[in-house]
Amino acid sequence: MMKITFLGTAAATAMPLPFCDCMVCKMSRKLKGKNIRKRSSVAINNDLLIDLGPDSAIACIEYDINLSKIKYILQTHAHSDHFDAGHLVTRHLDYASENIKSITLVSSPDTMKALNRKIQNEDSKVDIFNEECQRELAVSLNIISHKEAIILGDYKISAFESLHDVSEQSLIYLIENKGKTILYGTDLLEISEEVYSLLKGHFIDIMILDQTYGAGYNAGGHLDAEQVIEIINRMKEMNIINENSQIFATHISHEGNSIHEVMEEVASQNFYNVAYDGCIIEI
Ligand SMILES: [Zn+2]
Ligand SMILES: [Zn+2]
Ligand SMILES: [Zn+2]
Repeated sequence: MMKITFLGTAAATAMPLPFCDCMVCKMSRKLKGKNIRKRSSVAINNDLLIDLGPDSAIACIEYDINLSKIKYILQTHAHSDHFDAGHLVTRHLDYASENIKSITLVSSPDTMKALNRKIQNEDSKVDIFNEECQRELAVSLNIISHKEAIILGDYKISAFESLHDVSEQSLIYLIENKGKTILYGTDLLEISEEVYSLLKGHFIDIMILDQTYGAGYNAGGHLDAEQVIEIINRMKEMNIINENSQIFATHISHEGNSIHEVMEEVASQNFYNVAYDGCIIEI
């Protein structure tokens, strides 16, 4: 069995936005529950984390994921809502962390450089490309590019371009474990024709997609609700997903989206669900 825990389901701004008084943020402050969203990240089983974001550490405590047991961290890219260097540097001896177990950090080559810049801003003596620093942090690097796959323990990880931040070679990941397959698709500008052709022949049990924006409201860089539906339809036609697949929207911003209940109602009419913080799926 594979377990997915949504640690956060918001875009960069979190939900509600700290200073925003739009209807969605107003309602989310009032209703709380599924309307309070931390910055996007997920845990798979108890040993794999996708995106060490700013809210991931506190979310792990809330949802019973022990970060000290995490063996693999996949970074989609290095934007501040997906990576908080402050969390990583606490692995260093200087912070008196005890019994640190080694982790493998996975990203594209340019994302790894961007992660290192953020780490060096946080702590100038840490350089993750330096072997001695890697030993001190107990971190090993596994650099992966678009179209490549790697094996990490029981997992097969395949990387695909997300086109969200080309300068960082941002990636989305296909994760295969115990006969099941998950696509973690945020942050995502579009699924390119090449990625569709590479996914052909795969069957995805759980597909998680970027829905930063609501229908008719795309400010760029991400998918909106209409594009999520288009991708679902195309994937169905290509037999990459079927009625047994579970599809979730994540990375939700207030822009054109709504409160969880309303989003969920619209989504369920279109063959998908809207993830919320603390949502756990077992397959
Ligand atoms: Zn993001
Ligand atoms: Zn707002
Ligand atoms: Zn981003």
